[in-house]
Amino acid sequence: AKKVAAVPLAKYGGRHTVTMLPGGGIGPEMMNYVREIFRYAGVPVDFEIVQIDQKSESDEDLEYAITSIRRNGVGIKGNIETGSARPGVLSRNVGLRNELDLFVNVLHAKSHPGINSRHRDIDVFIVRQNTEGEYAMLEHESVPGVVESMKVITEENSLRVARYAFEFARRNGRKKVTTVHKANIMKLSDGLFLEVSRQLAKEYPEIQHGDMIIDNTCMQLVSNPHQFDVINTTNLYGSIVSNVVCGLIGGAGLFSGRNYGDHYAVFEPGTRNTGTAIAGKNIANPIAMLQASVDMLHHLGHTQHAQMIDDAIYKTINEDRIHTPDLGGQATSIDVVQNIIKHLQQSTRKINCL
Ligand code: ADP
Ligand code: MG
Repeated sequence: AKKVAAVPLAKYGGRHTVTMLPGGGIGPEMMNYVREIFRYAGVPVDFEIVQIDQKSESDEDLEYAITSIRRNGVGIKGNIETGSARPGVLSRNVGLRNELDLFVNVLHAKSHPGINSRHRDIDVFIVRQNTEGEYAMLEHESVPGVVESMKVITEENSLRVARYAFEFARRNGRKKVTTVHKANIMKLSDGLFLEVSRQLAKEYPEIQHGDMIIDNTCMQLVSNPHQFDVINTTNLYGSIVSNVVCGLIGGAGLFSGRNYGDHYAVFEPGTRNTGTAIAGKNIANPIAMLQASVDMLHHLGHTQHAQMIDDAIYKTINEDRIHTPDLGGQATSIDVVQNIIKHLQQSTRKINCL
């Protein structure tokens, strides 16, 4: 057979530039894996890397990161720890989502056949409000020993998120949207979120709409998860539900989350962990960040590259079963990445021989 070097594939259209925010903990090592795999796959994407000094009390780095995403339109990020616990210093992750108006977060929790878990064949999309609710960060101590925290729900954002969930269901052949809330207690705030969703559901007669209280949702997810299809929910409940579902089918190291607004998109690991305790030990599971990079490639329209990397990830997890300790395996992060690269080299060779 003709010897063909694993050179980058032909490029379709121009190169893209994407803002990369490695963040703290395992973020920087995960980003190095993304760049290595993009190199092997010949992905026509360049990164503008913005480091955020986590200890700094100033927001200069964050401002720069936001400017960079505004310029490039797209970002990929690790979790950014907020250096200060001082009230009034906002979480940088929240600040970034708010400044860019990334009003919706989408997480696809889909079982991998090669990973042992209590339930099999789970396939749930979680559509979550991403900028308000319990994350308004409006807290104050009104008198010593009494703290008030404001939860903000707006009709406009509730509608945008519900619209996203129903449109998503319609376009992807999904049958059911479940709105998750606590409107029995928070009658005004969650009541508004629920009412907006109920009204909107009338525009989508082919999609079944149900609602469920957050407490019961957690129980139902653990005991009977197959009843869920698309979940539409507020910011904090979305975080809880995402963690429950990911925990059920493989944990923090596997799934990606997509943050969208009208103008920008930012991709990151789905459960947004920093992973400080496992940083630098070559044991973190690189799949969640790699999956975020695949989402990013789909968003940019680099479908072939996205598919190629996605296939290599899938084979590594489900056929070769190269699993890091979080999945009960003994592989290192680098073992996983090298196995993915092995598959990429095979597929670039195949394409080069055509
Ligand atoms: P910490 O608070 O120590 O930073 P996190 O909240 O970041 O921990 O993560 C929660 C849990 O998920 C931890 O046990 C962490 O080790 C685990 N975890 C997060 N990301 C990964 C990953 N990519 N691979 C394996 N385990 C992970
Ligand atoms: Mg944490």
